[in-house]
Amino acid sequence: MSSKRKITVAYGDGIGPEIMKATLNILEAAGAQLEYDVIEIGEQVYLKGISSGMEPSAFDSLRETKVFLKSPITTPQGGGFKSLNVTTRTSFGLYANVRPCKSFSPFIQTHFPETDMVIIRENEEDLYAGIEHRQTQEVVQSLKLISRPGSEKIIRYAFEYAKKNGRKKVTCMTKDNIMKLADGLFHKTFDEIAKEYPDIKADHKIIDIGTALIADRPEMFDVVVTLNLYGDIISDVAAQVTGSVGLGGSANVGEEVAMFEAIHGSAPDIAGMDLANPSGLLNGAIMMLVHIGQPEVAEKVANAWMKTLEDGIHTGDIYQEELSTKKVGTQEFAAAVIERMGQKPEKMTPASFNTEDTEPMNIFVTDKPNQDKKLIGVDVFVDWNESGRDPQVLGETLRKANAAGLQLTLITNRGIKVFPGGMKESFCTDHWRCRFQNAEQSEISPAQILDLLKQIGDLGLEFIQVANLYSFDGVRGYSLAQGE
Ligand code: NAD
Repeated sequence: MSSKRKITVAYGDGIGPEIMKATLNILEAAGAQLEYDVIEIGEQVYLKGISSGMEPSAFDSLRETKVFLKSPITTPQGGGFKSLNVTTRTSFGLYANVRPCKSFSPFIQTHFPETDMVIIRENEEDLYAGIEHRQTQEVVQSLKLISRPGSEKIIRYAFEYAKKNGRKKVTCMTKDNIMKLADGLFHKTFDEIAKEYPDIKADHKIIDIGTALIADRPEMFDVVVTLNLYGDIISDVAAQVTGSVGLGGSANVGEEVAMFEAIHGSAPDIAGMDLANPSGLLNGAIMMLVHIGQPEVAEKVANAWMKTLEDGIHTGDIYQEELSTKKVGTQEFAAAVIERMGQKPEKMTPASFNTEDTEPMNIFVTDKPNQDKKLIGVDVFVDWNESGRDPQVLGETLRKANAAGLQLTLITNRGIKVFPGGMKESFCTDHWRCRFQNAEQSEISPAQILDLLKQIGDLGLEFIQVANLYSFDGVRGYSLAQGE
């Protein structure tokens, strides 16, 4: 039986084929034990009418090999095409996106030579579920979904990653001063799990100041764990400040399958010109080699690559007149790395991976006891554009609805309380959230809600969405309105 590890490879679009060829040549020269199942993904597949950009056989290949080395692809312009990355991440449960952002100063220009941070981004939840609705003439809605198990998995992953890689600190970033429930759940889960890792420092930053600090003082961060959208943004900021957008690799890791790639796109402007820097994909491949248990090969490749940078052999994107010794194309850069196989960098700290790095991490989700869930009210969303949008008129109309004691308690417009009371300066759209509870704010029945909806319809109003209000063990499971 072959001792070679089979992996799925996609050459992708634009510069994809050139950088993949260069990367695989380097891996081979380093003695990587690999065989390839090559699949077609991207533009050509999209243009065949397959909206995911991936043929069903490609999914079968991933199911079999469980490891995917992927070049960037071009997403055709226009609607109807789904993001291949999002599809792969969600279909195979690749919940962790790991993106190391390290400075290679002075060989790569950066204002922050000491930066060495890893961004760990939740990959499956948040606004990326893509559940969106246009509900009125003026208002669309995008649902942000955060789960306790999803948060637990990614946060545990971040701490386990820190432990395994000798890192000292994990910083959580959220916006829980505003999204108290969704981001609050992530932050609370972080605080709980941090206690299991007393040797690792844990802190929290609000995402806006956190992003500013990554842009201004990236050296202060070690491991950062955050939600999907924030992670998407801060990982580009971090890559940019280390000067390594063209150099960064990333891993998308799930329980079974993992995908490794460059962080940049298919660069159609330089495709086919032998100009592209293959380092991003190569760095993705180095992470892959560690993942599949070939750490000594990963170490060899990483050191030969760093030595090439030190020797000033640079592709055009990182070429600096005063520092570089030779400007090379994609394949010549690969040849220079191959020539240096077995060598180590002299000025930068050499890479070091060992078998411990390849051991699986202990990621699990704890069972939470079932809390006592009680239905205690309902938010009925209404599309209304009459009477100059005077909230008073809507409020008085809705007060006529009374389903066995369910009474209108407030109306908000874009989250701001406009009835009862409210400020006449508040701008109102045609999208109204109307909250109904009984006087004691005690338990109600679903039948009351159905009755209420019927009464609202009979009043000539159009409801567009209903969100039940629950308490869990007596704790309110919904946000208060601004001004409530
Ligand atoms: P891009 O990353 O492809 O290019 C941005 C700029 O960086 C371009 O000027 C390009 O020439 C340069 N560049 C990128 N990689 C380089 C490299 N390895 N060496 C030298 N220069 C490099 O981003 P874009 O132009 O916004 O997107 C192009 C296409 O890539 C789009 O279709 C986009 O959807 C797709 N894309 C794919 C992925 C992916 O597959 N993971 C990620 C991002 C973008």
